[in-house]
Amino acid sequence: MSLEQTFSIIKPDGVRRNLVGKILSRFEEKELRIVATKMIHMSKSEAEGFYAVHSERPFFGELTEFMCSGPVVVSILEGENAVLHHREIMGATNPDDADEGTIRRDFAESLGENTVHGSDSQENAAIESSYFFSQTEIVNSSS
Ligand code: ATP
Ligand code: MG
Repeated sequence: MSLEQTFSIIKPDGVRRNLVGKILSRFEEKELRIVATKMIHMSKSEAEGFYAVHSERPFFGELTEFMCSGPVVVSILEGENAVLHHREIMGATNPDDADEGTIRRDFAESLGENTVHGSDSQENAAIESSYFFSQTEIVNSSS
């Protein structure tokens, strides 16, 4: 087991439906600690930069339009095996495939509007965290 950090977004559909508290509670109840969080409204170019890895995919336009369609909550979460643990709490990308009790199964309405984002590796967690947070916005969890 290792203490890790991961990067998390509550997407515009989650904020729009007033699910911020419920979703952050699920992370906290499952031993992930918030070490940074804020609400932002991404510009189209910020969304395009964030999801640049998907720029050649047919859904890129739809995805980036959606991500800047309203405010989102970005957070850095810390815990044992945080990257994988957070993705397990979120559930599969398509809510129809997500396990019972996961966020996407319980709240997501479609593949495109699937309520949460989570980093898929420690390397990407570090890149994504620094895309939205400066060092001074991240607390030291041991202090
Ligand atoms: P995320 O990166 O948002 O946490 P993920 O890692 O589970 O999700 P990715 O493959 O990285 O899935 O896809 C990024 C996002 O693009 C998905 O969360 C989903 O909203 C959207 N997406 C993926 N595939 C499709 C598709 N075929 N049609 C429409 N949207 C899609
Ligand atoms: Mg992804």
